[in-house]
Amino acid sequence: MSFIASRLKRIKPSMTVGINVKANALRAEGKDVLVLAAGEPDFDTPANIRKAAFDAMESGQTRYVPGKGTPALQKAIQSKFIKDNNLEYSLDEIIVGVGGKHIIYNAMMATLNPDDEVIIPAPFWVSYPDIVLLAEGKPIIVECPESQNFKITANQLEKNITEKTKWLMLNSPSNPTGAVYSKSELKELAEVLLKYPHVLIMSDDIYEKIIYDNLEFGTLASIEPRLKDRCLTLNGVSKAYCMTGWRLGYCGASKEIIAAMNKMQSQSNTSTSSISMAAAVEALEGSQEFIKEHNEAFVRRRDMVVSLLNQIEGINCLTPEGAFYVYPSCEGVIGKQTPDGNKLATDEDFMNYLLESEGIAGVHGAAFGLSPYFRLSYATSDEILKDACSRIKRACEKLK
Ligand code: PMP
Ligand code: GLU
Repeated sequence: MSFIASRLKRIKPSMTVGINVKANALRAEGKDVLVLAAGEPDFDTPANIRKAAFDAMESGQTRYVPGKGTPALQKAIQSKFIKDNNLEYSLDEIIVGVGGKHIIYNAMMATLNPDDEVIIPAPFWVSYPDIVLLAEGKPIIVECPESQNFKITANQLEKNITEKTKWLMLNSPSNPTGAVYSKSELKELAEVLLKYPHVLIMSDDIYEKIIYDNLEFGTLASIEPRLKDRCLTLNGVSKAYCMTGWRLGYCGASKEIIAAMNKMQSQSNTSTSSISMAAAVEALEGSQEFIKEHNEAFVRRRDMVVSLLNQIEGINCLTPEGAFYVYPSCEGVIGKQTPDGNKLATDEDFMNYLLESEGIAGVHGAAFGLSPYFRLSYATSDEILKDACSRIKRACEKLK
């Protein structure tokens, strides 16, 4: 007999969260493990943001607050959308949640009926399909190969739309590949979406600020204003402001969807923390200078890691345009044998081998829906990254 609800059987635990917990536990036991599995910046939350949280506590902002966000935060988000994205949302078109993940969860729970389809381009962020399954929807995974820089094309999109399609998930810059949709690529997708008014679009812009090489960020609702009412424009403070633990995400969407998400929150978590909301106001309204400094470090690390990985036989790595992950192919090592005589049949085998032989924790591509690849986060020090790449090289050289 099991006390556990059958809906839980539909999903698996988050692989990114799981591998991180496991790798950090090995480190805590004193094992020599380099953790490149984390999906978070290695920088501290900036001091001005920490101070805003402290001030909020001291001034008594410690009580229940509206689930949609405090008036100050709602206004800060409204201004952010105008300033950065040229998007005008009224206050009842904005909601705050307990992280971007929670916004996605609430949006799916609030909109999906059983068997509604959600188009998810692969590779995808691990949580998309499971959140859809939890909400009784049906993930439609569309493989987007490396040859198209892991992005969905207008053609692929149109082929996969049915009358049951409820959402398209778009994520740019992408986790796990770092690929960025150009404005013209978004325009092409928009042309298709205009033809299918029953399809909503989740635009996951959480890595908006972490973009390189002077590329310009674009989001669908602003590129094609006729789609704005069907877009949920998702963002948060986790990545750009190094606030992963504060648990705050937000979005702009139609009044109808925001009201439904608000209803969900009112009967579940009520709101995210009032302290985090005060800190997020400072994040959005305070100095943005540190983002440039962080991106300079990320770009330096990206270039180093891509170059070192490409010197390893069997590994091939594209240069990502944003976020802080590389998603190299390990096709060249699949089929080879480890010194212990084990054959590497999958990217998961390869990642297990790297962890056991050299203490490298990364995430296998199968978790993101496209193999044979693996994801490494370069949001860690240059020294650790250099060490990690030389360990990967050593491990690959031992394969036969
Ligand atoms: N979307 C993507 C693509 C992500 O990588 C993450 C990070 N886990 C999130 C959403 C959610 O982040 P958070 O819940 O920390 O706001
Ligand atoms: N988004 C991060 C990652 O992909 C954080 C962990 C998670 O929430 O999945 O690793």
